[in-house]
Amino acid sequence: MTARSKKNAPGPRPRAPISPGRCAIYEQFRDIGRDCFLSGLVSSHAGNMSVRVGDRLVITRRGSMMGNLRPRDLIETGLERDDSDIALASSEIEVHRAVYQRTAAQAIVHTHPPHGVTLSLEMDEIIPIDLEGSYLLHRVPVVAAQKNVGSGELAELISAALVDCKVCLLRGHGLFAAGRLLEEAYQLTSAFEASARIVYLARVAGIRPVEYRRASDRQREW
Ligand SMILES: [Zn+2]
Repeated sequence: MTARSKKNAPGPRPRAPISPGRCAIYEQFRDIGRDCFLSGLVSSHAGNMSVRVGDRLVITRRGSMMGNLRPRDLIETGLERDDSDIALASSEIEVHRAVYQRTAAQAIVHTHPPHGVTLSLEMDEIIPIDLEGSYLLHRVPVVAAQKNVGSGELAELISAALVDCKVCLLRGHGLFAAGRLLEEAYQLTSAFEASARIVYLARVAGIRPVEYRRASDRQREW
């Protein structure tokens, strides 16, 4: 090969973290991630999200910025087995895997909602007192793990809680929300933090809520 042809030869192709067919998925991650950040549900490099695609899993990259996700920030790997990109994936991938294996969830959003995390420091479950949160969430269990990130114990606790509930709070850390779509998981996350804020404000103001809802199996008394 001459020096000239060497110069014109194409270099190594950049690795494609997700296949071109996953563009629509990327747009969902980008939009939901931006909304999570702008809503104050995560700090700049916190949080993670994933979707299940058949026997595959697409998850945000370790250390990515949720509010500014690029296509390279999405890692595709096996639902049950690791692929070569696994080292790049979020440190909480084992929690996501356990939830997909144990529930019908198709999408997971993990955030650090400040009012919810504050309440988790004292409460063992959070029961919304506003109508939307009461209808959507019923009750939100708080679980506590000895090791907070990347442990088997964490995956077991969170996935067990999400068998019966749509969202679950890890004490002092954050929320895991599971849904059929990223948008649904985000809706639950957003509604949860709105409810947690109302619970927080009522507690700070010394308000004792009066039961105003019709009795229903879908709701729980406070
Ligand atoms: Zn977290």
